[in-house]
Amino acid sequence: DYDVHIIGGGLAGSEAAWQLARRGFKVRLSEMRGSGDTTPAHQTDGLAELVCSNSFRSDDAESNAVGLLHQEMRSLGSLVMAAAEVAKVPAGSALAVDRDLFSETVTKELQNIGNIDIVRERVDEIPTDVPVIIATGPLTATNLAHNIMAKTGEDRLAFFDAIAPIVYHDSIDMDIAWYASRWDKGEGKDYINCPMDEAQYRAFHQGLLDSEKTEFKEWETNTPYFEGCMPIEVMASRGLDTLRFGPMKPVGLDNPKTGRWMHAVVQLRQDNKQGTLWNMVGFQTKMKHAAQVELFRTIPGLEKAEFARLGGLHRNTFIRSPILLDRQLRLKSAPHIRFAGQITGCEGYVESSAVGLMAGIMTAAQLNGGEILQPPTTTALGALLGHITGDAHADDYQPMNVNFGLFAPLDDKTHKKQRKAVMTARARADLAGWINAQKLSI
Ligand code: FAD
Repeated sequence: DYDVHIIGGGLAGSEAAWQLARRGFKVRLSEMRGSGDTTPAHQTDGLAELVCSNSFRSDDAESNAVGLLHQEMRSLGSLVMAAAEVAKVPAGSALAVDRDLFSETVTKELQNIGNIDIVRERVDEIPTDVPVIIATGPLTATNLAHNIMAKTGEDRLAFFDAIAPIVYHDSIDMDIAWYASRWDKGEGKDYINCPMDEAQYRAFHQGLLDSEKTEFKEWETNTPYFEGCMPIEVMASRGLDTLRFGPMKPVGLDNPKTGRWMHAVVQLRQDNKQGTLWNMVGFQTKMKHAAQVELFRTIPGLEKAEFARLGGLHRNTFIRSPILLDRQLRLKSAPHIRFAGQITGCEGYVESSAVGLMAGIMTAAQLNGGEILQPPTTTALGALLGHITGDAHADDYQPMNVNFGLFAPLDDKTHKKQRKAVMTARARADLAGWINAQKLSI
């Protein structure tokens, strides 16, 4: 006798449960930790355990997208944000917490609110009789993962993310780089090309070999490589010209300045519908973040590149949300099932919690016989939801943190220096309007 079954008491599941319970709905919250099961990364049985860093990143809501997301979540009564306030430790402009106090606070609030039955159990089958929110995270237990695959028609769910860096379009120097597809195929604007002569290529190749790399965690070593996700530095180590015959192939790409092919080319492909984000094709890497920034800014045209995301490889579990989910986070093929958290392909504590929050209020609206409109894409919540549920390219969908590149672009010629302030002010106004119109303040 409960209204919703939430599977996974991590960040997303805890936030979703809170949003439903405070609207009067009865929730069964199943968490396998505490029943003899655990994941390779969790250390405790506490709900909403932070598995790695203790930081929710920037708390600056004026010029940072994740700080703005904090603020939007607070205005919707987020438990994660409230518990973070209780457990806050000094961290400059970042929001960092005492992880144990944070998890204890979340657990206590969920126990005390009254409508939530916290059951320590591993769920293997997807329930069919009630609305379900699956929030089992990047380390979803195997049996459930298999059932999710069966339900979604995916042939695999857990694999190494092949993450290539993503660059903000407006930080690319288009006096040096140019738009073109190989052999002039496609729209002509499908790729941005950064040229390299032989000396530049040799130096870059050496830089890849010399750069500092991160090591795999032990439990990550048993997961297979996803096809085509070999790190660029591994490719470089196979020989001087391996990259020139691979992702840095120059053939079929006339440099408009010379009319000739370059010695090598770095290609970037559009990554979102708005065209604000471009990913570096084939540049998945295990290089340390600082080393990536340093080396990739030596690429002609990327001297001033700003990165929305840096490259990386780690184990993850997520579905191809842009094609599988509707705008209400429901599985199109089985709409009683919602997904929330990292399993939707968002990335990070805050984003996972935010998607949990949205899944919670959407489920509540549905149980009330209605539906809430998704938040506008001018807000951080709306930008994140838009990315997950349709705006990202589905074929090479990869986890991503919230960033301004996901927002609806500004339609005027706002000066670069003013853009963030204008975007956050617009977000605040639009979120307030949305909360009002959808009657979400309680
Ligand atoms: P989780 O918080 O992992 O919650 C999922 C819950 O579901 C877990 O409690 C799990 O025990 C439970 N569960 C799984 N399967 C079942 C089942 N079948 N039945 C019942 N319960 C189940 N993000 C950051 O912002 N900063 C970081 O430093 C960071 N470090 C990370 C390090 C690692 C090793 C990993 C894997 C991820 C990291 N992330 C980090 C990314 C991510 O944001 C976090 O993993 C975040 O906790 C995801 O939230 P979630 O609610 O989706 O999943």
